Amino acid sequence: MAFNPLNWLWGLFSLDIGIDLGTANTLVNVRGKGITINEPSWVAIDKRTRQPLAIGAEAKEMVGRTPANVIALRPLRDGVISEFEITQAMLEYFIGKAHEQSIVPVPRPRVIVGIPSGVTEVEKRAVYDAAMSAGAREVGLIEEPVAAALGAGLPVNDVRGSMICDIGGGTSEVAIMSMGGVVVSRSLRVAGDEMDQDIVQYMRSKYNLLIGERMAEQAKIEIGSAYHLPEEKTMLIRGRNLITGLPEAVEVSSVEIREAIASSVQTILDTIKDALDEAPPEIISDLMEMGICMAGGGSLLQALDKRLMEELRIRVWVAEDPMSCVARGAGMILENYDILRRLLVGLERGSTRHN
Ligand code: ADP
Ligand code: MG
Repeated sequence: MAFNPLNWLWGLFSLDIGIDLGTANTLVNVRGKGITINEPSWVAIDKRTRQPLAIGAEAKEMVGRTPANVIALRPLRDGVISEFEITQAMLEYFIGKAHEQSIVPVPRPRVIVGIPSGVTEVEKRAVYDAAMSAGAREVGLIEEPVAAALGAGLPVNDVRGSMICDIGGGTSEVAIMSMGGVVVSRSLRVAGDEMDQDIVQYMRSKYNLLIGERMAEQAKIEIGSAYHLPEEKTMLIRGRNLITGLPEAVEVSSVEIREAIASSVQTILDTIKDALDEAPPEIISDLMEMGICMAGGGSLLQALDKRLMEELRIRVWVAEDPMSCVARGAGMILENYDILRRLLVGLERGSTRHN
């Protein structure tokens, strides 16, 4: 985004923040400053009192190493509502942190939060309430795929159709948009996490090796792929042998990891096909020209673009810096609030949260 001195000056005296409350990573985009926070969406809590002990990067460090009375968890992993109080604490922490970073004392911030497109009215209300009670003066909600498309630079306000596929940790979101509205959308709970689980399962059933989620994620990132690679790779995967009970390292190839995650990749692919099936023919013809844009950390899976192109016969490309698209899109709304606020989603009156 180009430097705008007026925005910068405005930023000194007010605080407008866009938040990508991801299932895996939370990014905070402060108007006039850019993305100032990028931390894992982890919270470590006291098992007994459920009080948060650490949030963000600090909490993730504790994963798998916590003493018996502490659990580290990702409050958004299973949707917004399941860990409402903890989600709220996390939002409070990130909003507070953005607040602390401002040079002069500023009033309570205007906050825009990205939410998955499939969420219910009750979940929307939960995020809204959480941001309000975390100290916001005004809260706007935007569907993540719309924010991601904006951030990726797609012409979402154009009459021509455009398509985004945002593959995160817990959810994949597919949306076809035109004239600032969503024409077709799909949200599914198969994304990066599911692939990590696939790898854990695969190692257990093929090698009797019990591995941790972080090891699985590392294997996915280093040698995982969705299509054959020009040069297949191998990697040592460490875990505990379930029969001997002893630590063991197994050399695994990219072909095996591809096989392990194949059904998750296929599910995502089928969902994209489904969305395309439902799009009006005019929009399909626009998409054939413009291609499908991918965002989110999962879009970095090796050769995923090739695989999709092969099967969909439409050009597929990965957005620049795909993991920050939602946060950048939310920031664009703050910068052009009067024009873009119509992209925000409304809350139905009287909707309440149920615990
Ligand atoms: P969310 O929006 O749900 O917080 P992100 O967009 O931050 O998710 O993406 C996180 C997911 O992306 C994780 O599952 C992570 O393992 C995966 N990921 C990150 N980098 C890569 C990579 N290079 N290859 C494959 N997956 C990746
Ligand atoms: Mg996301």
